[in-house]
Amino acid sequence: MKIENIYVKKLVSQYREISLLNNVSALLSWDLEVNLPSRAMEARSAQSAYLTKLTSDKWLDTDFKKTLEKAQEARNLNAHEKAIVRNLVQGAKFYHRVPQETIVNLSETTSKAFFAWREAREKNKYKLFEPHLKKVIALSKIIAEHIGYSDKPYDALLDMYEPGFTTKEGKVIFGSLVKELGALLTKIKKSQAYLIDENKLLTTEYSPTYQKQIADFVLNKIGYDFSAGRMDVAAHPFTIELGAGDVRITNRYSPHNFIESVMVAMHEGGHALYEQGIVREFDGTPLAGGVSLGIHESQSRFWENQVGRSREFVEFLEPVLKAFYQKELNAETAESLSKAFNMVRPSLIRVEADEVTYNLHIALRFELEEAIINGKIKVEDLPEVWRTKMKKYLGVEPKSDSEGVLQDVHWSHGSFGYFPTYTLGNLYAAQFTFFMKRELALAKLIREGDFGTILSWQRKNIHQYGSLYWPKELVKRVTGKPLSPDYFLDYLKKKYSEMYSL
Ligand code: MG
Repeated sequence: MKIENIYVKKLVSQYREISLLNNVSALLSWDLEVNLPSRAMEARSAQSAYLTKLTSDKWLDTDFKKTLEKAQEARNLNAHEKAIVRNLVQGAKFYHRVPQETIVNLSETTSKAFFAWREAREKNKYKLFEPHLKKVIALSKIIAEHIGYSDKPYDALLDMYEPGFTTKEGKVIFGSLVKELGALLTKIKKSQAYLIDENKLLTTEYSPTYQKQIADFVLNKIGYDFSAGRMDVAAHPFTIELGAGDVRITNRYSPHNFIESVMVAMHEGGHALYEQGIVREFDGTPLAGGVSLGIHESQSRFWENQVGRSREFVEFLEPVLKAFYQKELNAETAESLSKAFNMVRPSLIRVEADEVTYNLHIALRFELEEAIINGKIKVEDLPEVWRTKMKKYLGVEPKSDSEGVLQDVHWSHGSFGYFPTYTLGNLYAAQFTFFMKRELALAKLIREGDFGTILSWQRKNIHQYGSLYWPKELVKRVTGKPLSPDYFLDYLKKKYSEMYSL
């Protein structure tokens, strides 16, 4: 990477302080999720809020702003310099366009909304959350106006999580997913295999100590570098980058579900491999880190689903699982294990959903967000609309709002526009895999446990570039085509038609 333009050079050096502050903030959140004593919550909130203020001061610094303007006017920038300026303009949008009092207001409103949401979910009383949600939505709309958009207000929010993604594109993608996945689900539910109870594997107990050892084994195998990270326990697993050479993951061990911790290891491991595979010269610059939430999620979904839930991976893992759980899994075969890894069951809870139903949960959220932000439905009506859509898309109906509209934390944080990136991740993953298979004998590599060859392909085509190419550009470079839901739908139809003998 050659940075020659004097303004870009200056920006890179000014940005290094923002990057350092981000790393320290990340360390505080990691510690909060993994280690924090219960009485330290208030002090930790104050510490984090102070760092957030310091970071926002850096973005708002007059000299930084002026330098960024100069860099935007500069001609003849090389590809790296252009990407640095583009990423900084994107990152600065929120700070430079939204008035500071609105940002402070948002932070106060969302921290109150979070506690109200938690109480409302515990007591199953949507009314406790409703007034807070109203405020968060009103602020999100104000923010969308400040940030600006060319078509719909929701576009401004979507763009913050997935640069360039719009309401219009979302409608096409989710429209086709709702139709096609609905049809596939109907077929599966009528099949003979669906009617047989396959859940007996998850009724006995599986030692959490062994689960951790299996997760360690899997992570080592796929190439996660433990000398540049670590795995701890957290209630809601996540991956976090704390600086160069420090990408941490978390896992959880449910006594009755040994499959979950393997899948979490693959999923979070996938996120971590992306971060660990970015060229080191990008460290601390605006080119560091995965390029978007959607692309990041594609790397985790690839390892979790395309690899981890494949028949070949189950065959690879079977002897390992049986070595640990001799008695429990004695009677199982690769066939029965593979079914347990891939069982389709429409459920009320997004985070427990299988590959076929998962994106229907996201479609519902996308449609509700779009309707709320673009002013088509009222906050009071959300629980009812939620129930109706669940019934229509998944054939199940929540009996309480805790299982329905109150199940996710995202809206209390004000993260409107975030949910669609989960689905984008699944779609990108399927499209990348389709093209990866033109160069690699993927199934054979997985069965033989040759994950290094797969990782090398990802590093060469995706990981190394960090945030150099934006999502649309990256997908085009790797696959030669724009994003399409067809690769994902074809993959699902083929896999589940075989599994359920449709
Ligand atoms: Mg993820």
